[in-house]
Amino acid sequence: MRLSIFVKTFFLLLFSFHVSSRVIIENATLIDAENPKRINMTLVLQEDEIVYIGKTRLKEVAFQEDDTVIDATGKFIIPGLWDAHVHLTFIPELDYQTAYKLFLKNGITSIRDTGAVIEKLRPAIEFAEDNPLKAPRLFYSGPLIDGMPRVYKGSEPGFPELSVGVSKDTDKNLLVDNLIQEGVSFLKTYEMLTPEDFKELQEIAEQRNLRVTSHIPLSMDLIDAVDAGLDGMQHIRNLELACAEEARDMLTKRKKLLENEDLLPGSSLRSKIHGLQRPKALMNINEQRCDEVIKYLASNNVYQTPTLTINTVGSKRFFANKEWQETYNFLPKEVKTEWLQNSNNLAEQPINESYKNYEKWSFNIVNLFNKHKVKVIAGTDTPIGFLTPGFSLHKELELLVEAGLTPIEAIKAATITPAEFFNLDGKMGSIEVGKRADLLILNNNPSLNIKHTRDIVTVISKGSIYID
Ligand SMILES: [Zn+2]
Repeated sequence: MRLSIFVKTFFLLLFSFHVSSRVIIENATLIDAENPKRINMTLVLQEDEIVYIGKTRLKEVAFQEDDTVIDATGKFIIPGLWDAHVHLTFIPELDYQTAYKLFLKNGITSIRDTGAVIEKLRPAIEFAEDNPLKAPRLFYSGPLIDGMPRVYKGSEPGFPELSVGVSKDTDKNLLVDNLIQEGVSFLKTYEMLTPEDFKELQEIAEQRNLRVTSHIPLSMDLIDAVDAGLDGMQHIRNLELACAEEARDMLTKRKKLLENEDLLPGSSLRSKIHGLQRPKALMNINEQRCDEVIKYLASNNVYQTPTLTINTVGSKRFFANKEWQETYNFLPKEVKTEWLQNSNNLAEQPINESYKNYEKWSFNIVNLFNKHKVKVIAGTDTPIGFLTPGFSLHKELELLVEAGLTPIEAIKAATITPAEFFNLDGKMGSIEVGKRADLLILNNNPSLNIKHTRDIVTVISKGSIYID
């Protein structure tokens, strides 16, 4: 095909300025959740931006000497993935540099840390700022904002310090303003908050244009939390309490339990309440009510990060799988040894029936979310539950498909929807001119089989080819 002089000149002008080196990908098939499949495409990436997309056969891109040209014939390109529920500080021995490498190596170019005390997260934040090519894009909430007694206090085994506890006397404006100073881009509120404190935090966040994602406080009904302006939920946590036949009566009982007459620590009090109410709720789900609740979540745009990987870890037991255990080889030696030992010990124990019920419930809910067009975001809770950073996100994608999403819908949950949570969908999450240059080149078509997202040829993060 011959181009008119005008068009040629236009493209030459556009692409022959010698700025910095570019990455040019030719003959690619582009797959994202916003566009139909595009075949035989050329992409030009300059620094951290997609600056051109066009049919390869037009040859309008004038190559420069230091361009990196990739022939992607037979390959598939998707946007860089997000793991929107991670805890970088959960296991101090699993250092952030290792985690960052594992995310990038697996094509996770953006992460959302959903709970960490700022001073512990600070080195990870600074490293990511100073070494943008060695870290995924990092979004963080800072600490879980919990009530009293708080759950993640750092004094019980398995519950590192991830939170701050607030009460009615806490200056929450100051708390939130300090977090904003520290660079947080959203807030995470937690299960032991009183309704009053939860609502106050929600209001403050709204005034400052921050979104809030939450574990629904045990003191509240989910609908009240949504009415207070809640923007997101994690793990579908406590949704069963809102769907239960005796939801109202159970809330009254919970409020009584929350008075904590035995002065239990927060982690034990929460476990006690979950232990008393969750199985009971799951056995008495009022399906019609549940449908109404889910429609309410959809109409109020409450983003859901179901974290199926962590919800099903007890029933699916990824940790017992030898192939999964191989991912431990990428972890620091002491973490690997401990994980292997604990994984094998746990694998010998019989599977608790309640885990299977919870898996069934989780899948069913995600399927209903999808049916009612609730926005779903992919996240894993790594490194909790022997969920190796990076690898676990691909597991989550598979589980989302198992729950009823199409592969493209699963990709959407790990690309455009998390970007949208941060109002960044104009800049990230699909393959468009003007968007950030985070891309994965895959060997096989992920819209045919979601497992193909693991089969990565090249990771491009911030416009640069990631080298492990
Ligand atoms: Zn978490």
